[in-house]
Amino acid sequence: MIKSNLPVILLKGLVLLPHAEVRIELNNDISKKVIELSNLYHDDEVLIVCPINNLEENPDTSDLPKIGVVGKVKNNITLPNGNERIVIEGLYRVKVFSYVNYSNETDILESIIEPIETKIVSEIEETALLRKLFHSLEEFISVNANISNSILSQITGLTDLDKLTDLISNFINLSFEKKFNLMCDASSTSRAKILIKELAIETSIINLEKKIDEEIDNSINKSQKDYVLKEKIKLMKEELGETSSKENDINKFKEILNNGVPFNIKNKILKEINRYSMMSETSAELSIERNYIDTVLSIPFNKYNKNIKDIKKVKESLDKTHYGLIEAKTRIIEYIAIKSLSEGASLPIICLVGPPGTGKTTFAYSVSEALGKNFSKISLGGMNDVSELIGHRRTYVGAAPGKIITSLIKSNTMNPVILLDEVDKISKDYKGDPSSILLDILDPVTNKTFVDNFIEEEIDLSNVLFILTANDENFIPKALLDRLEVIHIDGYSATEKVIISQNYLINRILKRNDINKNLIKITDEALFYLITSYTKESGIRELERLLNKIIRKIITEYIINKKRLSKILIKEEIIYKYLGTPKYNIKTNKDIIPGLVNGMAYSNNGGVVIEVETITYKGTGKIKCTGRIGKITNESIYIVLSYIRSNIEEFNLKIEDFKNEDFHINFRNSSIIKEGASAGVVVATSIISYLKNKKVPSNIALTGEISLNGDITGVSGLKEKILAASYNGINKIFVPFDNKHEIELLKKEFDKKINFIFVKNYKEIYNYLFSNKK
Ligand code: ADP
Repeated sequence: MIKSNLPVILLKGLVLLPHAEVRIELNNDISKKVIELSNLYHDDEVLIVCPINNLEENPDTSDLPKIGVVGKVKNNITLPNGNERIVIEGLYRVKVFSYVNYSNETDILESIIEPIETKIVSEIEETALLRKLFHSLEEFISVNANISNSILSQITGLTDLDKLTDLISNFINLSFEKKFNLMCDASSTSRAKILIKELAIETSIINLEKKIDEEIDNSINKSQKDYVLKEKIKLMKEELGETSSKENDINKFKEILNNGVPFNIKNKILKEINRYSMMSETSAELSIERNYIDTVLSIPFNKYNKNIKDIKKVKESLDKTHYGLIEAKTRIIEYIAIKSLSEGASLPIICLVGPPGTGKTTFAYSVSEALGKNFSKISLGGMNDVSELIGHRRTYVGAAPGKIITSLIKSNTMNPVILLDEVDKISKDYKGDPSSILLDILDPVTNKTFVDNFIEEEIDLSNVLFILTANDENFIPKALLDRLEVIHIDGYSATEKVIISQNYLINRILKRNDINKNLIKITDEALFYLITSYTKESGIRELERLLNKIIRKIITEYIINKKRLSKILIKEEIIYKYLGTPKYNIKTNKDIIPGLVNGMAYSNNGGVVIEVETITYKGTGKIKCTGRIGKITNESIYIVLSYIRSNIEEFNLKIEDFKNEDFHINFRNSSIIKEGASAGVVVATSIISYLKNKKVPSNIALTGEISLNGDITGVSGLKEKILAASYNGINKIFVPFDNKHEIELLKKEFDKKINFIFVKNYKEIYNYLFSNKK
């Protein structure tokens, strides 16, 4: 059945399927003419064709699909604006043979078409597809509540697969392309298969949408629930008076702000308080903000200790806690004197340098007490990041202010004494530049406007009295050292230690143990025995520990024996009883051998005695040196050898000893010494002693550097070295003549009689030790 010249309506962007209707508004004369023609000659039928390319205004007929749907114009209403609204019902698919324009109206498109006959499919396949389609449809409907009852009633009980597929295609949500393909697909089984798949996809999509909706609902519900709960807890806590609410915090902050907080900080904190007040109670940042405001406001901005300016009182106070330390005490007195003249005067930064246990830390504390200031200590030892001193930026997790600000907060005043302990022990792999940071902190010019990374605002540190300590000046960063006023605190001689024990340590220990100071006394001899036989230190930490131990043991014994504590005088036997065999016997070097000679050196813990030994063996005059000796000592060995060789005759040695022998010079127990030029005379004596096979007595020690013509130059650290020598049983010391004046001053401090022999040239030592010309 060929039906010709059915006029065509191009339906752009829409697909009309059989059993469906479209409502369109015609606004041009051509379309109206089509409807007219259809009404006049074609029983109101038109061919509905969907151009594949929607965007083309007048598509070429060769681009139009070769399949369309015949539609029946059902309603035709002329609207007041002259447009015509029509409803077209899709009837059946047709094959388009060609599109033609053969009416007189040149622009009207007509078609030559033929209906597509429905293919006969197997009944079984059709039934199976029908069932499957219904099943998919049921599932779809069960999750989609938007299917109208009229559609359902149309579908229910339908057995025509062709009609069913078209009806379903009409109400499920399909894209233009998919619908267009379904329109073009004349096979009902093929369409059924496509729809089964589409229904399954749609069902899953709807299910997924529902799940997402539920999740969103749940999360909204949870945060609402959390909020309500938190509010309830807050109210309950407030009711119980357990916590301050945000408002209470804000009121408290504002109250502190009005208590002399500097202008810059006040402005900043007001802004922060504003931020804090706008934050939700549930915000994670709330506590961070509160902590920040709290920390800044705990800086004791307006709090100052009244400085004690009475020099006599301060001196008495310092003398009460520490023996000696004359230079350090003088420096503090000067500080008060200058400060009393001008509060703003800037003074050099004090750095106490000396071996451990010599009273540096406790002295700094005593200074704070004497000046009526609060005290805080920062250990710099092992510190390896500037942030430890100047804080972490607020953006860091767990950020906090640095130790300078926390010390200020701890000391609760703006003018405390802050001790920066062990400035020489700042870790070598320090991140950032420690000396410039420390200078910023210490320099009265820059520390007026010190900025901690966490606090972010300028804080005035110029009223803080910083005191630094170090064991070894050589390890203080150079740039910093230049700005410090170094006060050396040497080790104490045994006599000084006896005085310190009698006047300070024992009283302190007895007081700590709540014992009347008249009940336990100790003789000077016993103290001397304790100091020389049980301790080997420049300071008095170990001594204090041992005294503590002895007194504790005495008290315990009295308590165990239920005796009343009566007056006790501690003598050497008591010390022996409680401490056992002495650890350090005064050295009596019995197995002395030629080539072994005592020297003296300086270590971090004070002076030490080192032994230098020499041997030679068959060779060619080469020199080997062992022990921890540095470049300077190494060079001095070469100088010594040249000096001895050039004086072979005078020293009564043989040239073969140098030509046919190799030398090995060893520094025993030298691992702890520091580089310093003072070993020349010891090395020379060791070599000559070995070559001449003449022993040097062990009660003798030497110190001094030697030049190529044998002149001996002065050395440093004498007090420490002599102390070490005296503890090691040495009573005769060769000292450079250059140091004579120093020795005269020191002499009275040495307990044992030490015989000092002042020498200008090595020949004097040679004559004394190896020849008879003394
Ligand atoms: P450092 O800081 O130099 O290592 P400390 O200040 O900790 O030494 O002192 C160790 C102990 O020795 C403290 O109990 C201290 O009181 C005492 N001490 C050190 N030097 C003296 C001194 N000159 N007078 C009184 N006690 C002292």
